[in-house]
Amino acid sequence: MPIDATQPYDADNIFAKILRGEIPNDTVYEDDHVLAFNDINPQAPTHVLVIPKGDYVSWDDFSARASDSEIAHFVRTVGAIARKLGLVEPGYRLLANIGGHGHQEVGHLHVHLFGGKPLGPMLAKGL
Ligand code: AMP
Repeated sequence: MPIDATQPYDADNIFAKILRGEIPNDTVYEDDHVLAFNDINPQAPTHVLVIPKGDYVSWDDFSARASDSEIAHFVRTVGAIARKLGLVEPGYRLLANIGGHGHQEVGHLHVHLFGGKPLGPMLAKGL
């Protein structure tokens, strides 16, 4: 069930629980501001979720409220993780779902990082 990305941050979301150490995760990378872990239901050979540690509902919320340094660090870190995973030469895809039409299911900003095989066209056809 997609979330409403205009609602305030809900501290009971599953990624908040991961950040508090209440449920486990398969960590790929961590620093003071960012956590990256393997998706529990991978859609590609590499499917990593990259999240800021701050309480941001979505890309919309993050882009509106986060500081320039938080945004710069997050963007640089997503790129660095992809490089560390060897994804630049073969290519990869980033995806951030926002709200209902974006089919965002977890109300804590996450960027999906997909790779490890040709990923095909961006969206299924049909407008
Ligand atoms: P989205 O639809 O963009 O909100 O994507 C949410 C993603 O979170 C899905 O790809 C899920 O498979 C993934 N997910 C949900 N729970 C967990 C979890 N406990 N650990 C890792 N990934 C999860």
